[in-house]
Amino acid sequence: MAKRQILTFPDARLREVSEPVSSVTPEMKALVKDMLDTMYAAKGIGLAAIQVGEPIRLLVIDTRPLPAEKNQDSEEQEDPMTALEKKVTQPLVIFNPEIIEGRGSVTYDEGCLSVPTYYETVERYQWIKAKGLDADGKEFTLETDGLLAICLQHEMDHLDGKLFIDRISFVRSQKIKNQIKKHGYGEKPVKKKEESAL
Ligand code: ZN
Repeated sequence: MAKRQILTFPDARLREVSEPVSSVTPEMKALVKDMLDTMYAAKGIGLAAIQVGEPIRLLVIDTRPLPAEKNQDSEEQEDPMTALEKKVTQPLVIFNPEIIEGRGSVTYDEGCLSVPTYYETVERYQWIKAKGLDADGKEFTLETDGLLAICLQHEMDHLDGKLFIDRISFVRSQKIKNQIKKHGYGEKPVKKKEESAL
């Protein structure tokens, strides 16, 4: 178990464009483990390597609901995962992710481990087909919708130095960025709604 420190906005490294990998080295496999440990410890559902200061095109994602969330009460709860989402093995480890095709649009109140306590509504593709290399460096493709599709698009933005607070209205974006630069981050979410941080 090795937890890494998660960089937060306005750390300049979060603006770097990450480099593709040509093969998966033992060091990268160790980094994947560290990233998963870091993501789970922070209760996040996705993490890009640059968020722990490594500028390579690598993401880890796990959008499966926590067991505690599942049986919060005895009443039948709606399954939060879609059929397509369930077909993807999670945690998902993907190097050099690329979206081959995107369809539809969906909005979601996104948060980010690198912009803690802030949640803003962002529009993304509702369905995506993506490709990349798995944990062993083997090429694969996946199709998904639901939270996994949203999360994958959010994490892919990190690889290009982009944050979810860049994807909202200019005025709102400036307001949030200035607020963070002036006052840092508080303890509690700025918005009431508490979603998992991506
Ligand atoms: Zn993020």
